Amino acid sequence: ATALSLEKLTLRYGNTTAVESLDLTIGKGELVALLGPSGCGKTTTMRAIAGLLAPSGGTIRLDGVDITRVATNKRHIGLMFQSYALFPHLTVFDNVAFGLKLKGIKGADLRNRVESGLKSVGLMDYAARKPPELSGGQQQRVALARSMVMEPKVLLLDEPLSNLDARLRLDMRTELQRVQKETGVTMIFVTHDQAEALALADRIVVMRKGAIEQIGTPEEIYNAP
Ligand code: ADP
Ligand code: ADP
Repeated sequence: ATALSLEKLTLRYGNTTAVESLDLTIGKGELVALLGPSGCGKTTTMRAIAGLLAPSGGTIRLDGVDITRVATNKRHIGLMFQSYALFPHLTVFDNVAFGLKLKGIKGADLRNRVESGLKSVGLMDYAARKPPELSGGQQQRVALARSMVMEPKVLLLDEPLSNLDARLRLDMRTELQRVQKETGVTMIFVTHDQAEALALADRIVVMRKGAIEQIGTPEEIYNAP
């Protein structure tokens, strides 16, 4: 089944066309990488999917429903950006609970959802700590749990691993993949790192100058001429 489809999506900043007539279909439960050099339109595409940038043309559908003009907070799309800013003065529990509370979830329901989110990233024992007491990798896992507990239909990750050192990056690759497979959430992540896309994604979308240059499984992309 299709989770997300972009149809002839055109995205502009004033007179600059960042993305032109992009067509892309993403299946439910897929882990898709947007790969390409700086300036090719990856972030712009993610911003449009998230509802942070209104398209100049084309349509965005989620589960078959046109969401092109639906407000960001009503799209059921989760976002995890490079700077995943946690609230330093709040506990890990309260960081993960933040968005749920805004939605009016409380009591046992809140506790259960936060605990299961922390469990899914292996941080149950850290609920009472505060972010500055955690390692970079642990903080990133808190940010992942915070996104996941909102039960997004699609989770967008913009260069999610780029702030981490090389070893942590490898750990987090495995972690992301595991959480994605366990929850079955549809994920799209942006990277300019080909090795990362090859290691993580079910499918890779190679972008160049605001258009799709190539699309395929890691194997197909790796073996392409
Ligand atoms: P990325 O790492 O995603 O390529 P950039 O470093 O290119 O991000 O851009 C950082 C910020 O500057 C973003 O908010 C982006 O929207 C904005 N930006 C990028 N290019 C331009 C530009 N030509 N004019 C104005 N703002 C820009
Ligand atoms: P990527 O994420 O692949 O690095 P972007 O989506 O950030 O690329 O940028 C695509 C194009 O849009 C680039 O030419 C960039 O300069 C331009 N751009 C990005 N953000 C802005 C902005 N806020 N204002 C004007 N131009 C922008």
